[in-house]
Amino acid sequence: MEPRIVPISAFKDNYVWTLRNERHAAVVDPGEARPVLEYLAREKLELAAILATHHHPDHVGGIAELVRHYRVPVFGPKNEPIATLTHPVSEGDRISVPELAMQFEVLDIPGHTRAHIAYYGAGALFCGDTLFACGCGRLFEGTAEQMFASLSKLAALPDDTQVYCGHEYTLANIGFAKAVEPGNRALDAREERDRRLRDAGKPTLPSTLADEKATNPFLRCREPAVIESANKYLGARVADPVRVFAAIRDWKNRF
Ligand code: ZN
Ligand code: FE
Repeated sequence: MEPRIVPISAFKDNYVWTLRNERHAAVVDPGEARPVLEYLAREKLELAAILATHHHPDHVGGIAELVRHYRVPVFGPKNEPIATLTHPVSEGDRISVPELAMQFEVLDIPGHTRAHIAYYGAGALFCGDTLFACGCGRLFEGTAEQMFASLSKLAALPDDTQVYCGHEYTLANIGFAKAVEPGNRALDAREERDRRLRDAGKPTLPSTLADEKATNPFLRCREPAVIESANKYLGARVADPVRVFAAIRDWKNRF
């Protein structure tokens, strides 16, 4: 049976994406252990692996407690300070979770943090705090150039890729996207759909890369409307997509 992917909520708006079959589960970015342990107990599942995308505590804070209960491999970025990793990985590495018959490719996507990674496999992308639904992560340790290149790398994956991000930020992100691209009708449709999901208490994720390319301003830095809004924000004329990206990232920080 194909593994299912389910969200476990953590903190206010984090998702611990959980891949599971009848007997085993692997978790991505367990910032908290308690909700994961509760889920595993309730579903009578055994933990098989932990995958981390970057070193921030809301993504790795639960690992130490989880490995006290389950001795499992802990995959994560080679060049970030995560004491609990057993398998440091970077671009080009492949990881497998035999209990779930799943394999993932590791992609380097720096920008939010210095060595942030993504896991891509079986049409699913786990991208932590780099690509969000209709948004992107803040530049804490990387440059606009790095983040733009990382987002471009993700955008080059197939359109039907399912995008599993680390946080439920979608509605706020759509609000900002509408300020950047007021004429983008796909944004209105997305807002209506995602508002309905939130009203029903459901996640707006996964999204698809096709949706992101149609609505996410950070993937649309070559669109005339996005360039125009970036120029208005800057009070200067720029067309280079990296500078457009840097402008709207800065704008979003103040939005
Ligand atoms: Zn983060
Ligand atoms: Fe986070």
